[in-house]
Amino acid sequence: MTDRIALITGAPRGLGRAMALHLADRGVGIIGTYRTGAAEADTLRHEIEAKGGKAVMIPLDVTDTQGFPLFVEAVATALDDTFGRQQFDYLVNNAGIGVFANFAETTEEQFDALVATHLRGPIFLTQKLLPLIEDGGGILNVSSGFVRFTLPGYSVYAAMKAATEVLTRFMAVELGERRIRVNAIAPGAIATDFGGGAVRDNEAVNAFVAQGIALGRVGLPDDIGSAVAAILSDDMSWANGTCFDISGGQML
Ligand code: NAD
Repeated sequence: MTDRIALITGAPRGLGRAMALHLADRGVGIIGTYRTGAAEADTLRHEIEAKGGKAVMIPLDVTDTQGFPLFVEAVATALDDTFGRQQFDYLVNNAGIGVFANFAETTEEQFDALVATHLRGPIFLTQKLLPLIEDGGGILNVSSGFVRFTLPGYSVYAAMKAATEVLTRFMAVELGERRIRVNAIAPGAIATDFGGGAVRDNEAVNAFVAQGIALGRVGLPDDIGSAVAAILSDDMSWANGTCFDISGGQML
């Protein structure tokens, strides 16, 4: 994968960070986006550079569609300045928020935040970035195990992710003429800051989730980072329009 470039939204921490590091290990240049974590983004850039890789970090709020034209310009500049290229190869729509709310209590504000972050943002960002994606490249959308299994508190979040999986198929069909393959991953519970960090930091939640996973533990960011590097690699080039469950066998 040497000389390829991946753009990952929400790169500085959690799954995005692990994806960036695993892709960098395979020689992929990284354009990472950060929202508030400029310092974390800088640390990630240094880590990738210390491995001999190349990385650029660019600010982005995926809910701010008005800001997308400027962001796309910044990506084009970074491609030219840092990589000597006009296009990149892989887009990973990773940025996301966990909003825990029972269906009966979900507010319109929570609904709007979830739509803006998980649907409106990735849809129109991807649309704007399409000219910068190399023909024959790939797009990976991040879904969730909650599309397949159900626990209280995540109805609207899961509905967004279900929509992401449907979009993935339609995008794959329409972008096939450019040989851009579009897939999704559905991680199970992974120990990150997601949802207030409960799976990572709350022993009781961690143990409860782990007993529902065939491999007997919750996922770690590296479990997803390595999977993403594999899915984007040429070895998986015939996989298209599909969603990979990466959950250690959660709630089978
Ligand atoms: P995280 O909270 O550690 O990281 C989320 C990242 O998204 C952060 O970098 C954050 O800054 C960024 N982000 C959030 N809102 C943003 C916005 N408006 N604009 C730009 N960036 C924004 O969580 P994570 O676990 O790494 O989650 C990454 C993705 O994986 C999300 O899409 C999440 O829904 C999905 N996911 C997570 C789990 C899990 O258990 N951790 C399981 C399934 C799916």
